[in-house]
Amino acid sequence: MSADNSEHAPPGVDTSTPHSARIYDWWLGGKDNFAVDRAVGQAFLNTIPTVRAMAKENRDFIHRVVEYLVRDQGVTQFLDVGTGIPTSPNLHEVAQAIDPRCRVVYVDNDPIVLVHARALLVSSPEGATEYIHADMRDAAGLLGDPALTRTLDLTKPVALTLIAVLMLIADADDPGHAVRQLMDALPPGSYVVITHPAYDFDPPAIEKLVAITEGQMTFVPRWRKDVEAYFAVPGWQMVEPGLVPVMAWHPPVEPEDPTAAYYWAGVARKN
Ligand code: SAH
Repeated sequence: MSADNSEHAPPGVDTSTPHSARIYDWWLGGKDNFAVDRAVGQAFLNTIPTVRAMAKENRDFIHRVVEYLVRDQGVTQFLDVGTGIPTSPNLHEVAQAIDPRCRVVYVDNDPIVLVHARALLVSSPEGATEYIHADMRDAAGLLGDPALTRTLDLTKPVALTLIAVLMLIADADDPGHAVRQLMDALPPGSYVVITHPAYDFDPPAIEKLVAITEGQMTFVPRWRKDVEAYFAVPGWQMVEPGLVPVMAWHPPVEPEDPTAAYYWAGVARKN
């Protein structure tokens, strides 16, 4: 597949292979995507025509869960790993609209997200936002990054958000280990939030998506039991309503079919 030469890519941005951040951006109506990304995005759409609505459901969940954490649980610190290309509203905007003192560290390893990071750094004066270009597979390196340690107080509760990112880490790279390292670094009162696309909702269709991405990018949808395992860390407890389809996590109105978006979503709290 060749890159579309009519499109200018910023330095460091590889337009010869599809990138998840840019495919997701295209589904959400953004402009930061290239021909290779749209080709995979369209192939996904051909297989699952509602894939755009699913991405939107995942974004809506971010808004709901951040509101829950800030308004109901008093969380003011966030570590958002696998941030993606900025889209409106970004996590810190939702959090700071409720409590302007919120501090948010964003992390992504895609150069295109770095290009747009400025949009993530527009914090309320009372709070703070920071962007770190890093790979979560090196969790220890991330945790020691001065930009993280000067922005977040790791002796106070932090919400670690891993929203639609773990499916981009191969089993061989042991995403569970990285998640565990990040969770271990957080004090009692902290939260972990995960969404993850999964086979359970429609195994043959999801298998087709994997076939589309083969040889082009890492895409590892998992099963519910695998997602459940990320949360199964001693000292951590799932909060209500547990690990559920993303549309069923504290929905504003009861969805007609809560399994219409193929992501599991869950939140756990450290005691
Ligand atoms: N969390 C956002 C964006 C999801 S797109 C949302 O749900 O709306 C997934 C993002 O994870 C992409 O931007 C991709 O670049 C990033 N990502 C993938 N693997 C990563 C890794 N190992 N470390 C950090 N970020 C990663």
